Formats: sequence, C-alpha cells, structure tokens
Amino acid sequence: MEHLDLKDRKGLVVGIANEDSLAWSAARHFRNAGAELAITYLNDKARPHVEPLARKVDAGLFLPCDVTVPGQLEAVFEEIRQRWGRLDFFLHAIAWARKEDLHGRLTDCSAEGFSESMAISCHSLIRMAQLAEPLMDRGGSLMTLSYFGAEKVVDHYNVMGPVKAALEASVRYLAHELGPRNIRVNAISAGAVATRAASGIEHFDELLNETVKRAPLRRTVDADEVGRTALVLASDYATGITGEVLHVDAGFHIAGMVFH
Ligand code: NAD
Repeated sequence: MEHLDLKDRKGLVVGIANEDSLAWSAARHFRNAGAELAITYLNDKARPHVEPLARKVDAGLFLPCDVTVPGQLEAVFEEIRQRWGRLDFFLHAIAWARKEDLHGRLTDCSAEGFSESMAISCHSLIRMAQLAEPLMDRGGSLMTLSYFGAEKVVDHYNVMGPVKAALEASVRYLAHELGPRNIRVNAISAGAVATRAASGIEHFDELLNETVKRAPLRRTVDADEVGRTALVLASDYATGITGEVLHVDAGFHIAGMVFH
C-alpha cells in the first residue's frame, strides 16, 4: 500500500513499452495508491508487451496511441471523456528520434528529422495538455520526463538535447497558462536508467559509469525512484509545485569536477 492516496483519481499513462519503462513504474505506484488508470500502447506490435501490464494495474481503459497517427491521441481523450467525464492527472513518457539523428551530430540533423523528434517528444505534451484541460475542471497534474542533456551538453545525447530543452520550456509555459485552472505541470528529469529508449543512446554504459563516479549519491537511480516521484507529483502532497523540473538523478545535475 502507498501512504499517498489517489483514491477516486483518474489518470492516463502514455509511454509504457515494457516492464523496464519508467512509465510502468509510475503506473504501478499510481495504481497502488488507488488511482484508476488509462494505459496506451504504441501499436499492434507493442500491444502484447503492454497488455499484461495493463491487466496487472486493472486498467479501466486500454487504447492504442501513436501520436503520429492522426486522430489517435484525440480518440484516447474522447474515450476518457465518455467513460470517466474527467481526468485528474497524466504522465507523458515518450520520446523518439530517427536513428541517424540520435547517433549523428546535431550539426547534421535534417529539418524533417528534427521536426519529427520535436513533434513526438515535445509537441505531443502540448497536445495532451490541450486535450486534458477541458477534462480537468477540478484541477489536475500533468507530468513529463526529461533528461539532464536539456541543460548541459551530454556527449551522444545529440538531437534529444535541444528537444528536451524545448520540452522543459514547454512545461514552464504550460504551467503558466494552466495554473489559473489549478492544473499543475511538471517534468521529472530522470537519471540514466537502462530502458529500451536508453538502449538507442550510444555509450549509454559509460553514462551509467560516469553517474556512479560523479553523482553525490555515487550511484544511478532506478525506475522505481522515478515512479515514486511521479506518484508524489500526481498527489495532493505536491499541490504547491508547478513549472518545476525535478531532478531524480542521485544529484548528478549538480556534479562539477570530481576527483578520485
Ligand atoms: P521506453 O522505451 O520504455 O519508453 C519510451 C516510450 O515512448 C515507449 O513506450 C514508446 O512506445 C513511446 N513512443 C515512441 N514513439 C511514440 C509515438 N510516436 N507515439 C506514442 N508513443 C511513442 O523508455 P523510457 O526510458 O522509459 O522513456 C520514457 C521517457 O523517459 C522518455 O521521454 C525518455 O526520454 C525519458 N527519460 C529516460 C531516461 C532513461 O535513462 N531511461 C532518462 C531521462 C528521461
């Protein structure tokens, strides 16, 4: 059982691919705290991996959602409107870039690749906020996931750096615009965790090693720590927090030069 109570709350989780997904950890904590969940899966190929997880958290709604498919994101919110009539929180945990852009220099990123990555990894949050707003007349909590590469240059993060920077700026502007409706908007800047998305980043193991060497806690974080933070942000324990980028990274973001 969780100490934080999300009983009678309705939440949407977008971004579960498998058991390693940061969104899966969050979904488990939301559910353990009593929330009723809508879970999405990317496409038919992803469905068999996500469906058993959705069942584990008794998801009331289980729907396809590829944000690049016209109408699919809108259909998720329409289903929520029809079934629940409202929404209390959502977690946006999706990111994507073309392989050549993820592995190549930002200098060489094409306009098309840049736009695609921005549309999927950043503008989808803005679309979700717009669709959630009318369902949140009692207020709400919107959360997304970012990374330190938004703030400082992290070798091999490439195009995702500027995309996450735009995501974090969007969090602040959405928080400003939706605050008067008591809708809070925050990002969790997670430390490096081995997930499927992370496996697309070159030299990821070195990033993990570097974290252990330089982070104040001298370790990496795990998905559970990220999920627990999402639970706090969704709950009434965080009613005063909005427009924030909350680092759950064992303190890696404050590390400068560390000598061993
Ligand atoms: P993951 O691979 O489990 O999740 C990524 C998700 O993005 C998948 O569920 C995938 O289906 C979804 N996605 C990709 N394209 C999509 C589209 N067109 N429409 C809808 N969904 C789409 O990996 P993860 O690490 O749990 O990633 C979740 C979020 O956390 C991402 O935003 C990622 O950048 C962020 N993050 C990850 C780390 C890390 O080290 N793992 C650190 C900081 C931030």
